[in-house]
Amino acid sequence: MRKSRIMTGIGISAVALLALTGCNSGTPGATDPTDGGDTGQSEALWEVSTDVSLEGSPTFDAITARDGVVVGVKNDQPGLGYEDAATGERTGFDVDIARWIAASLGYDEEQIEYVTIPSANREQELVNGNIDYYVGTYSITDTRKELIDFAGPYFLTGQGLMVAADNTDINGPDDLEGKIVCSVTGSTPLQRIRDEYNPGDTVEYDTYSQCVEQLKAGSVDAITTDEAILAGYVAQEPDALKIAGEPFSEERYGVGVAKGDTALVEHINTLFTDGGDVWTALFDEHLAPAGIEGSQPEVDDTAM
Ligand code: GLU
Repeated sequence: MRKSRIMTGIGISAVALLALTGCNSGTPGATDPTDGGDTGQSEALWEVSTDVSLEGSPTFDAITARDGVVVGVKNDQPGLGYEDAATGERTGFDVDIARWIAASLGYDEEQIEYVTIPSANREQELVNGNIDYYVGTYSITDTRKELIDFAGPYFLTGQGLMVAADNTDINGPDDLEGKIVCSVTGSTPLQRIRDEYNPGDTVEYDTYSQCVEQLKAGSVDAITTDEAILAGYVAQEPDALKIAGEPFSEERYGVGVAKGDTALVEHINTLFTDGGDVWTALFDEHLAPAGIEGSQPEVDDTAM
């Protein structure tokens, strides 16, 4: 199992959503935004804010001192947080949410360092101050809120199951008796399948792509995690993989931030609330093509 962190500082442009015309400043109400520089990143959707100040945010103070943003993301979840191994390009809904937040703080693509962090290490990386915020299929839970705060939610999905395309005997979490189910260390779906259902056995890896390899090799019978994640894998290999049954939990994705940085949480929540068409444009670009349905949830201050 891979335990290492992968640190990759890149300055590669995101998909440019040029078909979209509306512009939203990174910071709502910001004046005199730049033209986004020449990074080509989603310029049609937002502009990089200027003259940002965020009083009382230790995270923003650190960002200002270093003159750059360090964000934690995933790199193996197509449509959400993905890194092209050949080009180093980062794409996905979560990655663009991270970029949008960075722009609202006054930082463009060139000034973002991405750190790939697996599910099990997220809280600790935030507690240690190694990243400024985390955007990566990160469910808001009370247990995690003991260690960190969340902005959001910015997306809702639910736990589901993925099986081989020719599997006919698993149609929901009650069909797992005697079956081997793969999930990820430190994730809510692994915990729930163990606590509330009765699989024959569970195996855990650091990443979902490792589970996908096991499923394709036939060494596990099913993978469990959020449907939004599973749909991304199915979209890549529809002949090999399929989703089985209906979602059986509600997962509310939040942006992880250091505990007590209320100013940053409120800034991000305001961005989400006042973001106009940005959310829908990102959803249509990254998630709708995989057949995922949804609409922007209202932010919830109790997520903090
Ligand atoms: N949303 C779930 C969680 O936060 C599963 C996805 C993940 O592991 O990132 O645990």
